[in-house]
Amino acid sequence: MDKLRFRQAQPDKIFVFYAVEIFEQADSRNTFFAELLLPVPVPKLFTYRVPFDLNDKIQTGIRAIVPFGTRKILTGIVISIHESPPKEYEAKYILELLDEEPIVNNLQLKLFNWIADYYLCSAGEVMNAALPAGLKLSSESMVQLHPAFDEETTLFEFSQKEEILLKHLKHEPLPYSEISKLLNLKNLYSILKSLVSKEAVILYEEVKEKFKPKTEKRIRLTAEFTSNEVLEKVFETLAKKPKQEEIILKYLQEVHILQNPKSNFTGIGKKVLLGDELSESSLQTLVKNKIFEEFEIIVSRFEEEVQNLSEVKLSEAQLHAQAEIIKSFETHAAVLLHGITGSGKTEIYIDLIRQALQGGSQVLYLLPEIALTTQIVQRLKKIFGSAMGVYHSRFSDNERVEVWNGVLSGKFKFVVGVRSAIFLPFDNLGLIIVDEEHDTSYKQQEPAPRYHARDVALVIGHMHHAKVLMGSATPSVESYYQAHHEKYGYVQLTKRYGDAQLPEVVLADLSQERKSKTVKGDFSRTLLQSISDTLAQKEQVIIFQNRRGYSPMVNCQDCSWVPKCVNCAVSLTYHQYRNALICHYCGYREELPQQCPTCSSKRLLTVGYGTEKLEEELKLHYPDAVVQRMDYDTTRVKSGYDTIIEQFESGATDILVGTQMVTKGLDFDKVSLVGVFNADRMMHFPDFRSYERAFQLITQVSGRAGRREKPGKVVIQTSHTDHPVLNFILNHTQEEFYNTEITDRREHAYPPFSRLIEIMVKHIDKKVSRDAAYKLTEVLKATLTEVKVLGPGEPMVSKIRNHFLMTILIKIPRDSGQLHDIKQRIQQAINLTLTQKEFRTVRIVADVDPL
Ligand SMILES: [Zn+2]
Ligand SMILES: [Zn+2]
Repeated sequence: MDKLRFRQAQPDKIFVFYAVEIFEQADSRNTFFAELLLPVPVPKLFTYRVPFDLNDKIQTGIRAIVPFGTRKILTGIVISIHESPPKEYEAKYILELLDEEPIVNNLQLKLFNWIADYYLCSAGEVMNAALPAGLKLSSESMVQLHPAFDEETTLFEFSQKEEILLKHLKHEPLPYSEISKLLNLKNLYSILKSLVSKEAVILYEEVKEKFKPKTEKRIRLTAEFTSNEVLEKVFETLAKKPKQEEIILKYLQEVHILQNPKSNFTGIGKKVLLGDELSESSLQTLVKNKIFEEFEIIVSRFEEEVQNLSEVKLSEAQLHAQAEIIKSFETHAAVLLHGITGSGKTEIYIDLIRQALQGGSQVLYLLPEIALTTQIVQRLKKIFGSAMGVYHSRFSDNERVEVWNGVLSGKFKFVVGVRSAIFLPFDNLGLIIVDEEHDTSYKQQEPAPRYHARDVALVIGHMHHAKVLMGSATPSVESYYQAHHEKYGYVQLTKRYGDAQLPEVVLADLSQERKSKTVKGDFSRTLLQSISDTLAQKEQVIIFQNRRGYSPMVNCQDCSWVPKCVNCAVSLTYHQYRNALICHYCGYREELPQQCPTCSSKRLLTVGYGTEKLEEELKLHYPDAVVQRMDYDTTRVKSGYDTIIEQFESGATDILVGTQMVTKGLDFDKVSLVGVFNADRMMHFPDFRSYERAFQLITQVSGRAGRREKPGKVVIQTSHTDHPVLNFILNHTQEEFYNTEITDRREHAYPPFSRLIEIMVKHIDKKVSRDAAYKLTEVLKATLTEVKVLGPGEPMVSKIRNHFLMTILIKIPRDSGQLHDIKQRIQQAINLTLTQKEFRTVRIVADVDPL
């Protein structure tokens, strides 16, 4: 391979690389080498040689196509250029450069390295997460007939399958994937090897640019027909062809070329020109006669929004908070805005965004995944018009590339986006807003990099010298603590917007009601009565239950058999609507059996309430009410979420049942009752953050109740009415909640008083997984004498997708000051374990600051 150079064989956006031998002439030109970042989990850069003809094009920050390994082709980013050849090996050539201008800037490259370092992964993995798929080229292995192959004269014999393949290849080259289907073969190695040795086929790689700009067909006058005199002559000759005349007249009406000759250059959309009345065939005649010409231009995929400069009016409380934020920014790079639900944080953001944009800097506004699809984006669009980009995972690849390019070109000075928006190519951020900073969807769980967008936003803020504003009604305990210990500024907003009152919170005592037999199903009389009252007043209800499906468990009444997933160590959830038992970890599904497979009993009971069962029972209790469900299952289709929201907003729905989707970022005027169906499960989850989670979820969903003049009501069903978390919520004593949590965390050395790194060991063989975990723990304990290494142990769900899991938890004191060094030793310990022969197929994943 050394002396081989791949050559671009086709122009345009498809690159085909054949192995052809070429000889570079030794001459006086400089020989350059480039260091490339490649999307592979290896923590280093790769050196490639720059072909002479690309010497003028090469620069840092652009994409390059390179061969990798024996056959693969990858797209990487040029990090640096130099003239020293690698010592141990001969560098391969860069095949092609894809960009004329950098698509990644130096600040981003610095960020990639920071994330890789902090979250224990490779910069290549970070780049892979950062670039939208549309900017990453993928190569496909292809097979074509050998140009010299002649089936008449060949001396070789072919097998039946080989014959079939050769017959198909006569028409066109085929990708491996199709050949595999065609021959019904999983492994193509031997058949391709045989055909190559018989000189019947050649193999090559084809690389395609995935991003396709959106184009529009347009019409304009050809250059010679744009002058007044020529046009007059045209009208004379067309006197008897009114249809053609009409088209030219309409064109002159729409495009003012006589006043502004340049406007002919962009012409007019074909559909706009013809409208409903004018004739397409007459236009074609005009095109044929070279009076008009058709052409294509690249247009945006995003509708151009007309900016509506209506001022946002801040209340006195908001103005005060805003002034405090600005003052706090003088001494702090980051500020926590702690504003109760309904206090109107968004108006403050809008005003600050406007100021930052006016000052000439860029703004990034981060929102949790779900909140983004809602009302707020539409509102911002109206205010900021087309200077605002939206970056969302539900967007297509092409749309994401357009936002990326829009930030590069300066079109989008302001982007609203989900966590991955932190990777966009900003070069001059002045303000970053992290709304709902406590939200767990800011953390990426799988695959690497397992980053937290709020924490990374603080780092980006530092790099850009930008201010970071974190906002929440229920801040994370960590942020609350930092804000009260001077690391962040702290601004409170304790008044609801428009003087709305806080909701009345009522606990429905399930154990008491069970004794007095007033519970129907799992519904307390308190909740049922409150729903009736609300519906009678023609107001709306939200019921929150953090479990989807019908029932989380099915149980045989005679032998206690419970259906379990075949791939994971969890019981299957019953989904009535699909009449199936489904695993929420791996998606495995099976039919609900007619009878118990162990004892043949027909008494199979569903146990517990998912959102589906709640929906069904509410319909029985309130036959006149319209009940809708909002969870993962009902929102999976693209417009599902928007439809449910629209119907609820318009009042068509009376009761909305949902998982934590209903707790986020929604404002409805007519909701006066919120029911929390089961508070106990949230609080008794075995995790040091379970109180915080329960507190946040219940407070957030309660905040949906009552707006404007009328206070709402919240009914929380529980069997533990004396639980401290519920009492903090009941009495609106947030501060006490945080102080109690912080005391608790300090005592047990949990964050923010320590940093955690969780290491997960996975293998399909339980014993191998255990052995590797014990071995790794031993190595870790030996090397990390100054910190606590806990475990190994089985996580709550100890098997997922047929892989047995073991975890090790490392607790690092906050002030240890050698985090970097500790992480390096952890990485070495992992590498050491993986080099042992028996553990080579084990997967070990480190998660820094796990949630
Ligand atoms: Zn049974
Ligand atoms: Zn499963």
